Order: sequence, then C-alpha cells, then structure tokens
Amino acid sequence: MPPRYAAAVTCPSCGTRFQAPVQQILDVRVEPDVTNRVLSGSVNVARCPSCGTGGALNLPFIYHDPAKEISLLYLPVDSGADMAARQKIAGRLTRQLMDAMPPEEKKGYLLQSETFITMESLIKRVLELEGVSEEEMTRSQSQRELVGTLLQAPQERWPELVADSEALIDEGLFAFLEYVVQMTQAGPQAGSNSETIEALHEYLVQQTDIGRALASRAEILRGFAEAPSAESLLAALIEATDDETISVLVRSGMPLMDYGFFQRLVARIEDAAADEKPALEVLRRKILDVRDEIVAAGEANVRDRSVLLGKLLSTEDAVRMASSHLSELDDLFFTILGTQLQEAQKRGDQQAAEDLQRVATAVNRAMESTMPPEMALTRRLMAAPSDEALMEQLQGIRKLLTPRFLQFLEALEGSMREQGQEEGADRLMQIRAKAQQVAPGGAPQVDPQAASAPAPPAPPAKDVQHSADGLERTPSGLIIARR
Ligand SMILES: [Zn+2]
Repeated sequence: MPPRYAAAVTCPSCGTRFQAPVQQILDVRVEPDVTNRVLSGSVNVARCPSCGTGGALNLPFIYHDPAKEISLLYLPVDSGADMAARQKIAGRLTRQLMDAMPPEEKKGYLLQSETFITMESLIKRVLELEGVSEEEMTRSQSQRELVGTLLQAPQERWPELVADSEALIDEGLFAFLEYVVQMTQAGPQAGSNSETIEALHEYLVQQTDIGRALASRAEILRGFAEAPSAESLLAALIEATDDETISVLVRSGMPLMDYGFFQRLVARIEDAAADEKPALEVLRRKILDVRDEIVAAGEANVRDRSVLLGKLLSTEDAVRMASSHLSELDDLFFTILGTQLQEAQKRGDQQAAEDLQRVATAVNRAMESTMPPEMALTRRLMAAPSDEALMEQLQGIRKLLTPRFLQFLEALEGSMREQGQEEGADRLMQIRAKAQQVAPGGAPQVDPQAASAPAPPAPPAKDVQHSADGLERTPSGLIIARR
C-alpha cells in the first residue's frame, strides 16, 4: 500500500482550516475502484466541513495498472514553478510507485510513465485503456448533458425533451442518473436539488420503454431475493424477458441450481403447451451458457489466487507483495491458503506449514496497514486464542488503551449488535472490560457526550505529513500546504 498523505487546506470562502486526504499513487490492483474515481474526477477533491465549498486540489498523481503494464503520470502545469521542479515531482512519485512494488515485479515501464498535464487528456487515455470507444465516450457525454438539461428545465418540458433524445435513453443513462441520486443524497446540500433528480428518475422509469424494463427487472429480482428457493428461481427465470435479467438471476441463484433444479426445468418443458416449448428450450440453453461462464470464471480466479500464493511463498518481501495485490486478497484467497495449510499439517509437512503460516502473517500485516490503527488493534485482540493470551496482549499495549480507544470499542460493539453480530459484540464487550482493568489509571474518565456519539477513528498519525512551507493556491481557490 503506497503511503497516504493529508494536505492542510484553508477554505477560500470561510477560512476554516481542515485536513483533506491526498492520494499520490492510484493502483488498480490495490484498489479497483480508482478507475471510476479518475473517470468521475473525484481524485484529490476537498470539501470544507463548515460551509461545503469544494473542488479539485489538482495535485499530481500516478495511475498504475500492473496487469496492462501502464503507468500514467498526472502533472498539471501549476504543480511546479519550472521544468526542474516538475521533474523533481515526477521523480518522487515514480520512486514512491517503485517502492510500493515487490522487487520481482519492478519493470521498465514503471520508469516511463506517460505524462498528462490536463485531467481531460488523462481521462481520455484511461477510457481508451478500458476499451471504451470514441463513440461510446461521445454518447456518454451527450447523456450527461441531457441529464443536465432535463434538471435545469421546468418539468412541463420533460416530455418534449425526452421525446427529442429518446435514442440516448438507455441503461447507461439510468446508471448515471442513479449515481447522481446517490451523490446528492450523500452530499451536504441534499434538498430541493435531490428532489428534482429523484422526480426525473421516477419520470423516466414510468415514461420510457427502457425505464419500464428496468423496473420490471428490479421487481423480478426482488421477488426472488425475498424468498430464494429452486422454485422461486425457476419462476423468476421464466418471467424474465431479457438476457441481462436471466444472467443476474443465474449469478445470484447459482447455489440453488442443482440436479433437482434442472429436473424441475425439464419437467416444466415437457408439460408446456406446444407453443411455449421453444421459448423454454431457449431459456434452458441460456441458463446453461451463463452457468458455464460463471464456472469458468471461478476456475480462472482459483488459478490466479493460487499463482499469487505461490508468489507470496517465494518472494523475499511478502508484505510488499501482498500490499501490491490487495484487491486479490479476498475470501477465495483465504480459502485456498487455509486448505493448503490444513493439507500441509495433515501430511506432517512442517516446513510447508510454517511457510504458509508466514504468508498468512504477512498478508494480515498488509491488510492491517490499510486500516485505521484502532481497527487493526481490535482485529488483533479479537484473534487472541485465549483469555490469558488476551490479557498478555493487553498488558503489552497498555499505553494504547486510551479513553478514545475504549470509546471506539464501545461504538464498534454497538454497530455489531445493530447488525445482529451478537457473538462478535459479546467478545468486544469482554475485551473492553479487560482493557479497562489494564488501562493506565484504571477506569478511564469518559466524557458522557463523547461516549454517546463517539468520534470516528482518527487517521493514522503517520499519514498526516505536511509542513507549512510551499503554500499554494489551486485553481479551485483552496490553499494547500505541500509536504
Ligand atoms: Zn468553508
């Protein structure tokens, strides 16, 4: 995981000083979500917590896609006073990127980043890398403009405007609109604006063919999700009218598609009237095709994770390797690791078991480094194998058992209880009681107000690295202090 920084920002409207997280290395394999963030222009964006003024900080960064062996450097013209200063920044970012990579994966392309001075040109390149064509780009741009125009126009004009641009209204436009709805609901200025957006969404759902089709898909999926069984799955599949709905149903219903399910489907085809049979045959073929695709993709995933485990076993720096493959450390990876560990223990291969255990420790460390420190600490305490071990751990980290940490445990316990995770919550309650005994000064003094509304965990201290020098004004007017 590349280091994270925070910039000290001064709001140009109200003068409030606040910290905004800054990301300098965006790695697709570490965080797959970065591609969307680049495309939506939400990289290194700050918003004033007091008045809501916000905008892009326009800071340099590297976008890295290891699978494509591509690294793109965003270096806006105003990021350095002259060519030499800009080259220095480029060099520093490249070093950061290299440092985050395991030695055996460092390759020449890392030293030859393509450089972009505008976000627009960088976004264009990312779209190209993602295989999005020029026409698709233009179309999606027109769709955004159409949504903008509709939101500006009085609602009486919607029928006319929609009729004029019927061809632009597709699933992509709905996806964009739903994204906008979510953004405005989460934003600080939710209100009349979000009402208009929801009204537009509702209007398009009711008044367009694609809107009605999407609504019916949602209805079918909801029906199945409420009572999932082989029977309701089959009923939903028969009701589905488009391939996408069938595909989603097969994906979510995979565990139910056993021999009995297919027997049921065959019986249904046999019982059907002559004019219904062909459609059911086609449906059966589609279900089998989608299922085969999913099985093949699953097998490819197992292969990929096994290869990664092999790399982790052979590398000299397993933590760095794990950090650089963070998005691949999923449940599947841990299942494979766990299975191999069990097998090694069963056949009494001490060496293999130790090696796998070492990888497990490294992987845990890599994952913990991305968490707030309170969370990482809690995770370790929860993994204590016995009460004695827990007490011992707590004694070892006595200084870290601050009132703030105890509040964090209490808040976490509460949210776990809300989610029905009683077992975990009970464990946390025990840990908190023991931590209180061990904590410096015995029972801590807890501000009752703070306890009822605990503050979010503080960002790791090491992440906040900034100095007062190099004050600079960005195009959006936000002042940032560079490291
Ligand atoms: Zn402000």
